[in-house]
Amino acid sequence: MSDCLFCKIIAGEIPSSKVYEDDVCYAFNDIDPQAPTHFLVIPKAHIASCGEITPENSAVVAHCFEVIVKICKELGVESYRIVNNCGDQAGQTVKHLHFHVLAGRDMTWPP
Ligand code: AMP
Ligand code: ZN
Repeated sequence: MSDCLFCKIIAGEIPSSKVYEDDVCYAFNDIDPQAPTHFLVIPKAHIASCGEITPENSAVVAHCFEVIVKICKELGVESYRIVNNCGDQAGQTVKHLHFHVLAGRDMTWPP
C-alpha cells in the first residue's frame, strides 16, 4: 500500500533496524522503545489491523507468532509481552498490523 509507513519500511524506502525477515514477515526495532527490548513483527502483506484478519490471511498471524518465539529464543529472552493495538481507542497509530514484543523490565497489569 503506497502511503503506508510499514509497507515503505518493508520495501526499504524508509530505513529500519532489522531484526528478522523472511518471505512472510519482517521484524524491526521500535523507533521509540518502551522497554529494553522492543521490536515489531509485521506481515509483509498489508493488513490494516487485527480487525482485518480472516480465514484467508490468518496463517500469516500464526507465522508472526512462530517468528516471535524464534527471535526471543535467539535473543535469550524468556519472558516477554506481545501487544497488538487494534483501532484508535486502543492506541493503534500505524494502520498496518503489527505485534509489539516488549521485554527486559517488569510489566504491569492491567496495561
Ligand atoms: P501502534 O501505536 O500500536 O500503532 O504502534 C506503532 C509503533 O510504531 C510505535 O511504537 C512507534 O514507535 C513505531 N514506529 C513508528 N514509526 C517507526 C519507524 N519509522 N521505525 C520503527 N518504529 C516505528
Ligand atoms: Zn502497509
